[in-house]
Amino acid sequence: MSQLELNPHPHSERLTLFADVLLPVPIPRLFTYRVPFELTDDVRAGVRVIVPFGSKKILTGVIERVHEQPPREYEAKYVAEVLDEGPVVQPMQFPFLHWMADYYMCTAGEVLNAALPAGLKLSSQSRIALKPEFDRETTDWEFVEREEIILDALIQTESLTYSEVMDLLGIKSIHPLLKSLLGKGCIIVFEEVQDKYKPKVIKKVRLTPAYSGSVANLEALFEKLPEKQEGILLRYLQSVPVYQNAAANEGGLEKKVFTKGDFSPSSLKTLIKNGIFEEFEQITSRFAPIQAEEYSIVLSEHQAAAKTQIMDHFAEKDVVLLQGVTGSGKTEVYIDIIREVLDSGSQVLYLLPEIALTAQTVDRLRRVFGDRVGVYHSRFSDNERVEVWQGLLSGRFHFIVGVRSAIFLPFDNLGLIVVDEEHEASYKQYDPAPRYHARDSAMVLARTHQAKVLLGSATPSVESYHMAREGKFGWVKLTQRFGGATLPTVQLVNMTEERKQKTVKEDFSSVLIGHIEQALRVGEQVILFQNRRGYSYYLNCTQCDWVPRCPNCDVSLTYHQYLNQAQCHYCGYHERVPSECPDCGSTEIKRVGFGTEKLEEDLKLFVEDARVARMDLDTTRKKNSYNLLIDDFEEGRVQVLVGTQMVTKGLDFDNVSLVGIFDTDRMLHFPDFRSHERTLQLLTQVSGRAGRRELPGKVIVQTHNPEQHVLSWVTSHNYEGFLEEQIEERRTFHYPPFYRLIRVILRDKDKDKVERAAIILAKTMSPKLGRSLLGPQEPFVGRIRNLFLMHLIVKLERNAVSLTAVKQYLREQAQSLTDQPEFRSVSIHFDVDPQ
Ligand code: ADP
Ligand code: ZN
Ligand code: ZN
Repeated sequence: MSQLELNPHPHSERLTLFADVLLPVPIPRLFTYRVPFELTDDVRAGVRVIVPFGSKKILTGVIERVHEQPPREYEAKYVAEVLDEGPVVQPMQFPFLHWMADYYMCTAGEVLNAALPAGLKLSSQSRIALKPEFDRETTDWEFVEREEIILDALIQTESLTYSEVMDLLGIKSIHPLLKSLLGKGCIIVFEEVQDKYKPKVIKKVRLTPAYSGSVANLEALFEKLPEKQEGILLRYLQSVPVYQNAAANEGGLEKKVFTKGDFSPSSLKTLIKNGIFEEFEQITSRFAPIQAEEYSIVLSEHQAAAKTQIMDHFAEKDVVLLQGVTGSGKTEVYIDIIREVLDSGSQVLYLLPEIALTAQTVDRLRRVFGDRVGVYHSRFSDNERVEVWQGLLSGRFHFIVGVRSAIFLPFDNLGLIVVDEEHEASYKQYDPAPRYHARDSAMVLARTHQAKVLLGSATPSVESYHMAREGKFGWVKLTQRFGGATLPTVQLVNMTEERKQKTVKEDFSSVLIGHIEQALRVGEQVILFQNRRGYSYYLNCTQCDWVPRCPNCDVSLTYHQYLNQAQCHYCGYHERVPSECPDCGSTEIKRVGFGTEKLEEDLKLFVEDARVARMDLDTTRKKNSYNLLIDDFEEGRVQVLVGTQMVTKGLDFDNVSLVGIFDTDRMLHFPDFRSHERTLQLLTQVSGRAGRRELPGKVIVQTHNPEQHVLSWVTSHNYEGFLEEQIEERRTFHYPPFYRLIRVILRDKDKDKVERAAIILAKTMSPKLGRSLLGPQEPFVGRIRNLFLMHLIVKLERNAVSLTAVKQYLREQAQSLTDQPEFRSVSIHFDVDPQ
């Protein structure tokens, strides 16, 4: 800075910088801090900083902007520390984070909180210290003995954590004491911050330079080493060819090679002590390296045509919907396009719903793209996620395959976002804020990069289909399965009829059992789908009608036989199942309804020797259990796979010829305007698992009413016909995509209070919102985790009203309600485009 050096009064003329900092607090604005001179060169947009907040807190945030204007309304505090050398958040991410906060009605701080993997957030631990101005000698305050003890300790050690204070005094309730000391102005409370990401370190050994650099010295060793040590040396040289290439010694060998098997750890120790080997540590990736294979797939004629059409649409449109039947090879089309985009130097994001992000898909992509692929998955440890985040920043990854939260990764040059299975409800985050839809957000993210979006599905959402039909999205179809495979035939089985004939065994129709036996006889495989885990829906006393219910939520408990537990699927509460009814003492407690666990058990009874496995949340909690199940099925060790939604997505097996679907009616009659759409998507997707190769597939749908009109679309494979009909219904009844919905959710511990709050809020808003406002109403499950819920729904005609103005109004009204002392405890939040 030569200008400064020429300045005769450098201090008075020095530039004072200010930084606008995004903090993870639910306050809808940025905070401006003053940058101390010594940090002037370190501050820039995207780096993390530590700043004081309020009178007692220290927080970490991210700098969004550096400028020279002091804030008008308040005296700016100083930035305490800058944590990064380069940006952790790309500057171009900020507009996206703010868009999300605005659109989904939360704060940018909440979005930031969801965006950063925990390892990049700093953990904090409350500590106390003496206030600098406090002087023990001159103070007028009197202290009780315990306060004296704390002050004495602080004079000696500078600061203490809460738990150290507890230990010091031998009591748990230190709050009143701290409050009193704070009141007397003696102490401050602050948060100690520490980085949570821990790189993976491996311990290695290598020869010391005296031996690696001299063949003569190495030879001499063999003359004098005892046998065990020689064994270690030989093993080392076998893996690290020091003779041929002395430089190979640099990388060494993992120490753990010598700590097991025939090697003795003490011999290794001796070798190290005698200066023959040295220990060192190496930071390594959590992801094993993988080599891309020669790319061998050639697109079929249909696929190649689809690809050309997609590229043509991209010349004019930002979004293209690829509607391709199950097994049409959409993935191969994506891969081909992704390769082109990567070759052109841009980044690619491939979004998949949680359950479809299987090892099968990842393996396939890694075989093609090798190390350039980073995988971002919620089953990964946080450290793994930080590695992907940083791998993108450092340029190591150009291609990310991930679940919905991958849209927050620090891309700076996106060329394409693929949203596979775009219809999936799990793209929407329900709790906590931001309650965003990853597909819709991806379209906004793409605009900030001028990137293209490719939506893919066999069963597009009504929304995307509508946009494609209106010409807003490009629209490309693949109507043939790859390799001439045909779509399976779908047969509806009348359960009412079968029950009358008494041919039903438990929950299996005779038709389904017959087909299962037939498939197994000829060595084919079967997938059975039931959208409910556990053994039975609930338990029920036959004498007095008692049903065990969750004490925290407004639901009955689901019976899990394996654990002999009744569980709440909303809050995780569980209890042992009583052998007799607690109300009337009867031992006749029956199980109502059935879940995957019961199907698995029954099937083993009905079809002898069948090798059955179950895939649901309960059997896949462990990190690898999901992949093991897939392997077992793939390799034929399992013949029948019974599962929840998990079996409906993305799985690609050659040998599945039969799919059975249970309890269709319960799915269809779920009280929600999307229940038909969802059910048809599920049925079509799970049916799509059958007959993906030469084997023709068969689907058996069990229903009590095969005449229902909606099922005719399934048997005729006319999903599009169904969508056309749905669109007209949605238009008539004012639902998306013609109307937008915003759900207002009120929560409180007190049922009365939350009901009153909802009524008052509805009353105040109804003059302005009129018929757009529905409710209040109690939701389907009216209490979760001991909080009572009430809903209001706002329905807005698309493009007819200013969405921004309505959202602003809703926020203000909610705020003024909770400003009333009576309703201070009520929490109100918004779910925009609820699913
Ligand atoms: P979808 O995602 O549309 O259901 P997939 O992409 O899973 O379909 O393709 C179905 C199967 O067909 C996969 O096993 C895939 O490897 C295979 N396949 C698709 N296209 C080709 C192709 N051009 N060459 C070889 N195999 C293909
Ligand atoms: Zn009873
Ligand atoms: Zn519960």
